[in-house]
Amino acid sequence: MLQKKIINDLKKIVGKSNVLTGREDLASYSYDGTATQVHEPDVVVFPTTAQEISDILKLANDERVPVTPRGAGTNVSGGSIPIKGGIVLCTTKMNKILEINKANLLAIVEPGVVLQDFNLTLAQEGLFFPPDPQSFLGCTMGGVVSENAGGPYCVKYGVTKQYVLGLEVVLADGHIMKIGGLTPKNRTGYELCMLFTGAEGTLGVISKITVRLLPMPPATKTMMAVFDKADVAVEAISHILASGVVPSKIEFVDNFVIRRIEETTPMGLPLEAKVLLLLQADGSPTAVEADTQQILDLLKKHGAQEARAAKDDAEAAMFWKARSAGFAAVFGAAHTVLAEDVAVPRDKLSEFVRRLDEISEKSGFFIQYLGHAGDGNLHPSIFTDIRNKEEFARAEETMAEIFEAAMKVGGVLSGEHGIGLEKQRFLKRAMDPRAIDIMKGIKKILDPNNIINPGKIWEEATT
Ligand SMILES: Cc1cc2nc3c(=O)[nH]c(=O)nc-3n(C[C@H](O)[C@H](O)[C@H](O)COP(=O)(O)OP(=O)(O)OC[C@H]3O[C@@H](n4cnc5c(N)ncnc54)[C@H](O)[C@@H]3O)c2cc1C
Repeated sequence: MLQKKIINDLKKIVGKSNVLTGREDLASYSYDGTATQVHEPDVVVFPTTAQEISDILKLANDERVPVTPRGAGTNVSGGSIPIKGGIVLCTTKMNKILEINKANLLAIVEPGVVLQDFNLTLAQEGLFFPPDPQSFLGCTMGGVVSENAGGPYCVKYGVTKQYVLGLEVVLADGHIMKIGGLTPKNRTGYELCMLFTGAEGTLGVISKITVRLLPMPPATKTMMAVFDKADVAVEAISHILASGVVPSKIEFVDNFVIRRIEETTPMGLPLEAKVLLLLQADGSPTAVEADTQQILDLLKKHGAQEARAAKDDAEAAMFWKARSAGFAAVFGAAHTVLAEDVAVPRDKLSEFVRRLDEISEKSGFFIQYLGHAGDGNLHPSIFTDIRNKEEFARAEETMAEIFEAAMKVGGVLSGEHGIGLEKQRFLKRAMDPRAIDIMKGIKKILDPNNIINPGKIWEEATT
């Protein structure tokens, strides 16, 4: 429980209307997109300037109060759960697009800008910011940068870290630090922007973001391919990439998701398809036509039962709507859904999905998966019920086997969702102990009193 004086000081900093302490409010900020953990903060604050963030952090640092940065709370690794109570610092009121600079192909935004609002504004200028986490309707730019988020477009355009040019970060002692700049090239010292990108809100609070933009591709074409086997479908992806054509999206949707979507919001997806690959080509109209033909030929050659371009824009939009609804459709499928995130080298995808089948058979759990297959990034889910302790423990162990299987073929513990609380116990298996020590050392330098998002990424007992 925080002292009343600290709450009053926070009210002085951000104004009374930007401080929440009601029971329902605290409950609302006790969770994020993660299925298994909940913890209430003592207070939620909504700063509107970097100076206010600075004053909050100075106060918290002096009083040793934990501060959990939060955007929209859509992350699925426990990153914005205030596991030690204290202050939730929510950036959603810092939602201004400060500059769109067409000549320099960049934009400067506040952290609370919602990704979809950003991209709709950019589209009016013929520009786009490619990283497209499928929570784009709600997630904020601060969360996107802090998770180094990815999405379908990343197979061609890369993830968030490839777009961050500059950051303004408020450090634990309240110092407002500017790093990076406005130029696409910058070799001044260490790549500190990269350090804060993907730091899961543990090193400082990002108060301003400068990102690189791209001109909107003049033409796009969506394709779909039906396969009756997952390993054949993912092998076809390797053949496409090896052929020299790079689709702008290659997404994998399984039959479970197709059925869930058709049950809840019928769209006319092929119910009989065991696996659906959704692909997109983009670029100049001529290049798109040629790429589309090449991709469709390769899909057919490598096992697709059906491969065709979307009939029209409406059908293309329907396919992408189905894909973006996919993860959410999975979430509602059971009392507790362990929805995970691993990435494997793309030429190992088929081996990995065959291993998923074996793990499913051995454990008795149905393993559903979908994801950004073009990046080797899949989201395996297990349906369980946290209230059934025995079953839940088995589900967790089965998920651990899946992580192990991914790492065994040269993959990583997280492709895009981060470690947060959810995967801490696997970190030692996934990283060199020296690398973990280096991360802890960096944290100590930047946040010696461990007030910013404490208890995340690594297990504290090992500190
Ligand atoms: C249905 C669904 C689909 C998703 N699809 C994808 C996907 O395709 N790709 C993908 O990468 N992710 C995906 N995600 C995960 C998540 O939506 C993204 O990571 C997103 O970028 C998080 O943004 P947010 O604003 O919700 O951040 P939050 O969840 O609020 O925070 C995420 C982390 O960032 C920190 N943070 C937030 N703002 C700041 C700040 N200003 N300064 C410092 N730290 C900060 C928090 O402490 C936390 O650790 C999905 C989630 C859901 C629920």
